[in-house]
Amino acid sequence: MGGTFDPIHHGHLVAASEVAHYFSLDEVVFVPTGVSSHKDDRKIAPAEDRYLMTVIATASNPRFSVSRIDIDRPGPTYTVDTLRDMRDLHGPGTELFFITGADALGKMLTWHDTDELFELAHFVGVTRPGHRLADPGLPDGRVSLMEVPALSISSTECRDRVRAGEPIWYLVPDGIVQYINKRSLYRDHETAATPS
Ligand code: ATP
Ligand code: MG
Repeated sequence: MGGTFDPIHHGHLVAASEVAHYFSLDEVVFVPTGVSSHKDDRKIAPAEDRYLMTVIATASNPRFSVSRIDIDRPGPTYTVDTLRDMRDLHGPGTELFFITGADALGKMLTWHDTDELFELAHFVGVTRPGHRLADPGLPDGRVSLMEVPALSISSTECRDRVRAGEPIWYLVPDGIVQYINKRSLYRDHETAATPS
């Protein structure tokens, strides 16, 4: 499951858990993006903070893990690179699934190397409130659309709430609330890392 995870929240965790159950996945690897190719319009928190929050949020689940492959690769993150690296790491015998939100799935046809993407992984698009599951004309058998319990949580809302001094308890795991406070993330005085 790729994402900016700025910060990771319970919507991500429920989606991962539901997809893992439905497809009987052995493991869900959360892969925080490096410099996202889609999110260069705002400053994002330092990769190390996003990585550590993802580790904290997933630590208690034996089937969840976190990979640094995207944050350690220089330059913008492209999903095709993520999947090539995952295949190289886990071997060609491993069946890969890429879990993404329905919003991101809708943009997939604009990605580079779409044919190779579908050879590398099965794509699972999960619904979230406010995003309709339109069929964007993707190839049969390589894409599944799946409804997960609607959680109207987004990282954007979490950041906005922190900035406004509103609570984010129960929208994110307790450890994430505490990490955000400890590191003073998402407050206006904070100088977030600029994409490099
Ligand atoms: P932002 O508000 O900054 O865009 P986000 O909440 O969408 O953040 P991302 O890190 O961009 O979080 O999301 C990673 C993936 O998880 C995306 O594919 C996104 O569609 C999906 N996702 C995010 N929130 C939810 C949710 N509440 N339910 C299901 N999927 C979600
Ligand atoms: Mg998003």
